[in-house]
Amino acid sequence: MNDLPYYTDDPLVDLKAHRLLLDLDPVASAQAGRDLKSGTCSCGTMTATPPWDDHAVFEQFDAHMADVQVDAHEVAAEELEQARRQERKAVVERWNATVPVGTPVRYWTGARHGVGKPSRTRTPAVVLSGHTPVVWVEGEGSCIALTHVQPIETEGDPS
Ligand SMILES: [Zn+2]
Repeated sequence: MNDLPYYTDDPLVDLKAHRLLLDLDPVASAQAGRDLKSGTCSCGTMTATPPWDDHAVFEQFDAHMADVQVDAHEVAAEELEQARRQERKAVVERWNATVPVGTPVRYWTGARHGVGKPSRTRTPAVVLSGHTPVVWVEGEGSCIALTHVQPIETEGDPS
């Protein structure tokens, strides 16, 4: 939360949905001899303050907006994660629709350069631990990330 910009500079905060509403309390103001106002937010989720001086109401409103901002970031992070999950699922589905088990491939166990090693897939692709699309190939005990496996054309079988 400390890494966030002030809420007025945060594009994730819908400022139009959060307007400070001030309500002068004539009784409390008369007793105090100065204007005291109760403050709340137009969004309806901020508990109205007691009749306070403006600065105290502003502080409370700032605290409310800090909560709003944190919530907005949590929602955005969750939406991003959902989108990534969908994308990984789609990658695996596309792979399994076009690369049946036993398809000749080249794969790379380290950085993806050079020609890679020839093999064949021995499983369908899955999303490993919920975050990495992988497949197992013949001759390798560990799974390989799909980004490091390339199906090859079968004409003139390379193996
Ligand atoms: Zn609000």
